[in-house]
Amino acid sequence: MTFAATVLTLYPEMFPGPLGVSLAGRALREGGWSCEAVQIRNFATDRHRSVDDTPAGGGAGMVLRADVLAAAVDSVADGRPVLAMTPRGAPLTQARVRQLAAGPGVVVLCGRFEGFDERLLEARNIEQVSIGDYILSGGEMGALVLLDACIRLLPGVMGAASSGDDESFETGLLEYPQYTRPYEWEGRTIPEVLRSGDHARIAAWRQSMAETDTRLRRPDLWERHEGARVQSPSGARRMKDDVT
Ligand code: SAH
Repeated sequence: MTFAATVLTLYPEMFPGPLGVSLAGRALREGGWSCEAVQIRNFATDRHRSVDDTPAGGGAGMVLRADVLAAAVDSVADGRPVLAMTPRGAPLTQARVRQLAAGPGVVVLCGRFEGFDERLLEARNIEQVSIGDYILSGGEMGALVLLDACIRLLPGVMGAASSGDDESFETGLLEYPQYTRPYEWEGRTIPEVLRSGDHARIAAWRQSMAETDTRLRRPDLWERHEGARVQSPSGARRMKDDVT
């Protein structure tokens, strides 16, 4: 099954963009996924082909019109999840990425200016996704991030790299630090345990580094990881999968 990505945007020339190179690019050429970029402006109905208008209630900028965007969404809707990129959305997680990658594909709506008329998101029950607590100039970069995260999980895309399973976030922890040759560089050596050949010791070291680094760098992740391991006060056991 091909993962079908449809992106609704005012800048279709941005796709596949960086997803046309490396492993994602090869998978695209080989039919492992498809990428369709649809120009939102094609769904404008007035003679100026306008897609936006001034904010109700006043204020700076322009807002994307519900009627024009709904026509664009409806033209491609086929049961795939429809997501809108917005800083007001739920932060994207590896768990959600995994679910999306296991499905038929996604329709991604890219905002510009001040974003979308809220009625569009309500009326079409569109899932709102944020890629982080900062403001981009448009949703296209966010869509590329979302698609990249999904595509690398598609069967066959990562090739021999069994990577994926102990990557940061997959376990609810950051990944342990990595090293490669040369053994000594600028007076720094690779941790001795990694040269021991003792797989049990190496695994234990990696687990302990993953825990220490998560605790120090991402106390928010650590708290959720720990929370997932203990009974919650209500007695319901929270699943690790819910928190990554
Ligand atoms: N005025 C809006 C921001 C608009 S930024 C607000 O304060 O919420 C313009 C567009 O860029 C948005 O509609 C959205 O599609 C995209 N965008 C900006 N930041 C984003 C983020 N952190 N995650 C996902 N999309 C984002």
